[in-house]
Amino acid sequence: MGNKPKYIVIHCSATREDKDYTEQQLNAGHVARGFGKWGYHYYIRKDGRIVPMRGENEVGAHDNYLVPGEKFSYNRCSIGICYEGGLDKNGKAKDTRTDAQKEAMGKLIQDICNRHEILDVLGHRDTSPDKNGDGIVEKCEWMKECPCFDVKSEFESWLPTIIVKP
Ligand SMILES: [Zn+2]
Repeated sequence: MGNKPKYIVIHCSATREDKDYTEQQLNAGHVARGFGKWGYHYYIRKDGRIVPMRGENEVGAHDNYLVPGEKFSYNRCSIGICYEGGLDKNGKAKDTRTDAQKEAMGKLIQDICNRHEILDVLGHRDTSPDKNGDGIVEKCEWMKECPCFDVKSEFESWLPTIIVKP
């Protein structure tokens, strides 16, 4: 059973903005966590270079939260994109994306939306369980800060205007 992309989930590598985190380091980290290899589908370095990781139809290892109303996680129905960064020099959550990263991310998302029927573009934190069941994942419900910026406000306008949410 492969991946059926309906969502795009954005992550940060949780790297301080004054540090580098290469794709080799990322891969080693995910191998150490038992993922077999890098768990994302794409990685965006600070210089805007996009590193392809898993194939788009390969199940990811980046988001274990269950899709609302389903018995499976986002790993089975999303494309995971990670950018290098996400923390300030003191280790606090921050949108550290460079202009090159923002541009690369925008183009990549547009490209994926052209090839797959994507219902929503989400930040990792937006896929946290909706504990109080009001249909909105609020800040107090975020399991983590990742990806350290508001994905929905940035990319929602790209999606089809009429979306039947699951
Ligand atoms: Zn994440």
